[in-house]
Amino acid sequence: MRRPWSLPALRKEFNRIKTADPRFAEWWQENSKEAYSTGLANAAAAFDNYAKSKQGKRKGRRVGMPRRKTKHKARLACRFTTGIIRVEPDGRHVTLPRLSTIRTHESAHTLLARLQAGTARILSATIRHERGRWFVSFQAEVEREITRVTRPDATVGVDLGVKHLAVMADSTGEIRYESNPKHLDGSLKLLRFHSRRVSRRQGPDKRTGQKPSKRWEKADAQRNRVHHRVANLRTDALHKLTTAVRGEYGTVVVEDLNVAGMLKNRRLARKIADAGFGEIRRQLTYKGRRNACRTVVADRWYPSSKTCSGCGAVKAKLPLHVRIFHCDACGLVMDRDENSARNLAALAAAATTGTGVAGDQGATTAPKPRGADRKTRTSRRSRKAKAARAGGATLPQPRQTEARDRRQAEALTLW
Ligand SMILES: [Zn+2]
Repeated sequence: MRRPWSLPALRKEFNRIKTADPRFAEWWQENSKEAYSTGLANAAAAFDNYAKSKQGKRKGRRVGMPRRKTKHKARLACRFTTGIIRVEPDGRHVTLPRLSTIRTHESAHTLLARLQAGTARILSATIRHERGRWFVSFQAEVEREITRVTRPDATVGVDLGVKHLAVMADSTGEIRYESNPKHLDGSLKLLRFHSRRVSRRQGPDKRTGQKPSKRWEKADAQRNRVHHRVANLRTDALHKLTTAVRGEYGTVVVEDLNVAGMLKNRRLARKIADAGFGEIRRQLTYKGRRNACRTVVADRWYPSSKTCSGCGAVKAKLPLHVRIFHCDACGLVMDRDENSARNLAALAAAATTGTGVAGDQGATTAPKPRGADRKTRTSRRSRKAKAARAGGATLPQPRQTEARDRRQAEALTLW
């Protein structure tokens, strides 16, 4: 059955209406057709999500009926799937339909080299306005050589926390602490100053229809710049951390943290959001796929902190303020996070004995943008890789899942 909100149906309706309806008469030709297509594609996806959620075919929180988006609040974005999309040979300019050639702030040499070597093909380009800047990103099909990690046989357990951003225990027993940069904390004072200034000026008011004053807008923009800087610093630090971890270890064990739930704790929410737990796990998973390495995700209810890494005894309770782990069974005394990281590292060993070698991971086929590329997909991967339980290990065996390819990783991500 043809859905009335499918992209072709919406497009057809828009093409009919844009010439017939006088409201479009003046301006629709001024913009690229991709601008309308982007909006329609997003609307189609939103309706799809709503329908699937209602039928119980979609994971996660219930998705409501799509609402109207105003141009004042929507993120400005447009995805080009057809026309001239290329990186110019100097690696400093890109050419896009309607927008012609634009200089980029960052060099596009890496992509350019791949394009020239014939190992990459651009499928689409998306421009978006974010954090006060315009970005262009390319979706490309890339033939990638698998980069070898420095220690393919080593395993690391990553315990995320607020005190230390990450405590990493590897299979040789080495412990590394990654300090928490706390980017937001460093800017709180400045934010307080800016926010006060904003609130003293004449802001917008929905109830009275009050428009913000020019001075308010200026102050608001200045405050936003602080937020943007914090976000940029955070992104940079997280990428450096996850790239370093994935460049070294063959297997990474992470916890399946309920970040959305943790954010409900009003005393810890700000610090947890600042640390970016969810993002760390996302990056570790996809960067591992790129290196053909394993990611083991510990079950959400696996008591990594309460279990003794020495003898396997599990404590009934361990309040958050207790930073040192004392084992009642064997007398082990260890830093709380270190104990937890060691437990996670041990978990991978148990998973390995069950499944043997991790499967190879070829290039995952990227979804083609809006059917612009009509080539038939040759390989369709829908492997369900599940690590078998290890027999007779001393640890209490929780359910373990391995994130191996894209589709599965998405199925695993629960927040
Ligand atoms: Zn013990």
